[in-house]
Amino acid sequence: MRIGIAVFSCALLLSQGALAREPQKSSADFATDAITKGDSRKGAQADKAQDAKPARALTNDEIAAMIKTRLAEIRKNRAARLADERTKAAAELSERTEHWSYDGESGPEKWGKRNPAWATCASGKRQSPIDIRDGIKVDLEPVMFDYLPSRFNVLDNGHTVQVNVGSGNSITLTGRKYELEHFHFHRPSEEKINGRGTEMVAHLVHKDGDGRIAVVAVLIDSGAAHGLIQTVWNNLPLEKNEPLAPISTIDINQLLPQRRDYYTYMGSLTTPPCSEGVLWIVMKETIQASPQQIAIFGKLYPMNARPVQDASGRLIKESN
Ligand SMILES: [Zn+2]
Repeated sequence: MRIGIAVFSCALLLSQGALAREPQKSSADFATDAITKGDSRKGAQADKAQDAKPARALTNDEIAAMIKTRLAEIRKNRAARLADERTKAAAELSERTEHWSYDGESGPEKWGKRNPAWATCASGKRQSPIDIRDGIKVDLEPVMFDYLPSRFNVLDNGHTVQVNVGSGNSITLTGRKYELEHFHFHRPSEEKINGRGTEMVAHLVHKDGDGRIAVVAVLIDSGAAHGLIQTVWNNLPLEKNEPLAPISTIDINQLLPQRRDYYTYMGSLTTPPCSEGVLWIVMKETIQASPQQIAIFGKLYPMNARPVQDASGRLIKESN
């Protein structure tokens, strides 16, 4: 490529210079001449210099300097054009691979194809949410909730309202302790129970020391106003992706229903990358939020629920 440009540039410069006196030659010939016969040509040009006015033959040094300048310009322009193309391509790639939503071209049906890292969204066999039915009724070990009044911040991440909580909140189940990282909301509820969904759901996302995820889902029906949800709405940030951190605390126990019976099954994250190996704990009893509170979330996110996925004969257990 570099040689090609050099030959082209030589041809361009020389055809406009002293060697243009040999019109019968092709540009490529000039280029070759300039490289191979530069010195012998100098003598011939000097002989003719007196009667061939006003043109003065360029010296080899001058030609070399012109070529160098022109090459530098070409390289600079090419670099600028390439950088511009790369920036545009990166922006398009990022839009195609990083953006996802709940409808259209970036909707749930397309998640698995938009980004190789999200392939599980399409190919996974243990995806969430599911329509929970045909659970096996057994004596399930109670989930030990250890939630304390905590500092928090509220984040609108463009997909939901997420409440990040301080450390020290955990659940323990089957000898494993999972720390609460955050909770967030969907409207309507993602999970269904025997075909029935609710107005909203809260997902409390926990992680253990090995990075295993356990999500507690609390279904929300329309009814009485909910104190903690109101506190979260009171602190909704005005801008997306800029968390608002009030000085007050919240008691996450308020998000839990009184009865602690639950369904449990193995599933996935319900958003890209749809990673599997997630332990789901879906509380049987619902909590309530007022129609006004549900409408407030609906203004931000009228629909942010992934459709139910094939349960594929997965084992679902439920409290007796
Ligand atoms: Zn969720």
